[in-house]
Amino acid sequence: MTDQHSELLAACSVLGGYAQDDLIWGHASVRDSEGRGAWMKSSRLGFEEMTADLLVLVDDSGTTLAGGGTRHIESPIHTEIMRSRPDVGAVVHTHWPHVVAFGATGMPMRPISHDATLFVPDRLARYGSGELITTPEQGRAVAEALEDRPAILLAHHGMVTVGADVAEAVVTAVMLERAARLQLLTAAATPDFSYSSDDEAIRKRDQHFTRSNIEAAWAYLLRRVQGSSSAT
Ligand SMILES: [Zn+2]
Repeated sequence: MTDQHSELLAACSVLGGYAQDDLIWGHASVRDSEGRGAWMKSSRLGFEEMTADLLVLVDDSGTTLAGGGTRHIESPIHTEIMRSRPDVGAVVHTHWPHVVAFGATGMPMRPISHDATLFVPDRLARYGSGELITTPEQGRAVAEALEDRPAILLAHHGMVTVGADVAEAVVTAVMLERAARLQLLTAAATPDFSYSSDDEAIRKRDQHFTRSNIEAAWAYLLRRVQGSSSAT
């Protein structure tokens, strides 16, 4: 098994632990080290059911070049973002419930919690169509809306998070779902809620989401899904 396969399988196992009743939907990818496209989770199975032989290599046209599974039809999300963002090594797409609910409110993301500091100011893009992203043109439109941000909400659909590697992309996805949940809880209690200033949020982001902390959080997520609390 290659490093990119083991990274992607690790991402799938962690995301399977956060399945949130999304059953077989949602997908993750890592950039192919030979520049042929993206290695992705395959369709028709849950994240945690992935094995190395079921991962698929998909190119920019949506053609499956290798692997034993069936391609998710939304592969252009991954291939077009990777094409437009050389800094992106991994992409996560989910339909987790709090993100979908939050997106439908139209509220801007507010830094109520540490989690949300990843997404402010103006670090959470929005894509207005609720259609599935099945064509390169739609994938390009998502990539253009994302610009250089770490995450995008797809209206009435879900979210996409990106990172240099699976650690960044998965931790960002987990934090976005949590930030959305906290803001929904807060807004339900009172529409007149308080939150950090941009300056405070940026300082907190720099303290809370250091590369070292993201790697530690990723290692913890892996240990948790593997059922062990011992450090590796
Ligand atoms: Zn989707």
